[in-house]
Formats: sequence, C-alpha cells, structure tokens
Amino acid sequence: MAKKAAPQSVKACSCPYCEAEIVDRRLPYCQACHVEIVRCNTCLTVIPKGKDSCPSCGRKVKKTK
Ligand SMILES: [Zn+2]
Ligand SMILES: [Zn+2]
Repeated sequence: MAKKAAPQSVKACSCPYCEAEIVDRRLPYCQACHVEIVRCNTCLTVIPKGKDSCPSCGRKVKKTK
C-alpha cells in the first residue's frame, strides 16, 4: 500500500468569459476581466456563459439581473 493518494484536485474554476483561472473563489467576479461570475448555489461551480443550469449538478441557476 505504497500508493500515494493524490490530493483530490479541486476542479479549477475558470472564467467563462476570458477563461482565466479564478484563483480566489470568494470573489464574485473575475479578476482578469472583472466580469461578474455566476456560481451554482449548490456546488459553487462557475456557470458558463449563456447557461441557466449548473453543468455539474444540473440545478437551475437563478438569474440576477
Ligand atoms: Zn474573466
Ligand atoms: Zn451545481
């Protein structure tokens, strides 16, 4: 049992607009292009542009506008 357990890699969050990695997930916007990021309330996955449901858990995302 010398298998090294790889740390569960957290799916990198990336901006759906400029595809820059979102380093600080607490920020509600992309640090690169300063666009507002919509996240799934359930799993915090970044919702891609134009989608109204989470690609990860399928939950509908409430649009705030
Ligand atoms: Zn961006
Ligand atoms: Zn989700």
